[in-house]
Amino acid sequence: MGLKLFNTLSRSIQEFAPLAPPKVGMYCCGPTVYDFAHIGNWRTFVFGDLVRRTLEFKGYAVTHVMNITDVEDKIIKHVRETKTSLREFTGKYEAAFLEDLKTLNCRLPHHTPRATEYISEIISLIEKLVQRGIAYKAADGSVYFSIEKYRGCGCTYGQLLKLNFDEMKAGERVKSDEYAKESVADFALWKARGPEDGDVFWPSPWGEGRPGWHIECSAMSTKILGPSFDLHLGGEDLIFPHHEDEIAQSEGATGKPFVKHWLHGAHLLVEGKKMSKSLGNFFTLRDLLAKGFIGREIRYLLLTAHYRETFNFTLEGLQGARAALARIDECLGKLREIGSLGVPPSGGSPVTPPEGGTPNLMAAFSAALDDDLNISAWGAVFEWVRETNRRLAENSLGATDAAFALAAWDKVDSVLGIGTKSGAEIPAEILALAEARTAAKKVKDFKRADAIRDELKAKGWVIEDTPKGPKLKKN
Ligand SMILES: [Zn+2]
Repeated sequence: MGLKLFNTLSRSIQEFAPLAPPKVGMYCCGPTVYDFAHIGNWRTFVFGDLVRRTLEFKGYAVTHVMNITDVEDKIIKHVRETKTSLREFTGKYEAAFLEDLKTLNCRLPHHTPRATEYISEIISLIEKLVQRGIAYKAADGSVYFSIEKYRGCGCTYGQLLKLNFDEMKAGERVKSDEYAKESVADFALWKARGPEDGDVFWPSPWGEGRPGWHIECSAMSTKILGPSFDLHLGGEDLIFPHHEDEIAQSEGATGKPFVKHWLHGAHLLVEGKKMSKSLGNFFTLRDLLAKGFIGREIRYLLLTAHYRETFNFTLEGLQGARAALARIDECLGKLREIGSLGVPPSGGSPVTPPEGGTPNLMAAFSAALDDDLNISAWGAVFEWVRETNRRLAENSLGATDAAFALAAWDKVDSVLGIGTKSGAEIPAEILALAEARTAAKKVKDFKRADAIRDELKAKGWVIEDTPKGPKLKKN
């Protein structure tokens, strides 16, 4: 069974079929760096990370691009209000974003292009649209995308959602980056410099100005991934107008299909309500860390809901996440005690545990992922934890079983990314010493074995010989 994902383009679950496997080009709309990202934003970014990790788990070679929107309407407003330079203002939030990405254990994208560093690509893309008669310069000096001309070329505007063109008012246009589908209109590609823009402007064939938000993503994605690529994702609030406009600009300029699979993550409520600063339910990642929660607890909670379901994020849920992780950690801790000194699986990927091993975690987990990233994958994890605990309790799990179970867990966690509780891991150096001691005892070099035991003690670890073999404990 292959990986199946819901494609917003076809509004159905489809087999994931990249254009040139095993390569996958994946573009995620990144942050607009005018503030710290909030927990709703983080749901989308963690979802993007889940997609990337799933593809890598399935053996694809992913090129992951996430742009940094460092020039758009809201940013300019803040730059004006704070009287800083554009770079100074956005640099601070960009650094915070990348730091938060690490806190949530998201794999860093291979490319994080900044819009301001792609101005010449943006201008040449607009020039192409002007040459093809799809874009025009209006009396206000700005360049707009003509929906009428685009449709006249036989192209479809309204691929991700159905639009009612009969209700459209002819000749309307919109300059701001955000607008509702009720006001479908020609949108700005290049915005002529206005007094409110301050020092934020670049020269162009149409005069001084700055790019619109939508064209930024078309220029950066096609420059890095080519005119057609496999996967584009973002939050569902970006479907219109942002993603619809991205399709129109890219296909209008290249004449080629832009993206094969569109994936959208659903909204998030906080404490049952739409997040808002006035309701006091607005949390950035940093707000939650200040309350004493840690990155893996937040990541775990965000991954407990299917990405296409609206999710109610609560502080109580975070407490629950802490308890759930403690159960996993406890089980892994016991497995490590037994398995760390057992025979590690040699070579290849230890997918199938030997006869009598723990239930096949990998198979159940992989099947759940194939089903549109069905998060019931956690069901597979907890079933495995229960069964493993049962076998641990009845002492029927040997060192080899434990080593296989841990290796399977590591593969599963390469997707989940919840990692281990800090401090729970036995450092490689300590393990190596313990193994050296076992080897010394085997050849009856007890002097050396004792010296290693002392060395371990000096490093804060006690080694005990049990009927099942040596066990390491922190002093
Ligand atoms: Zn975008």
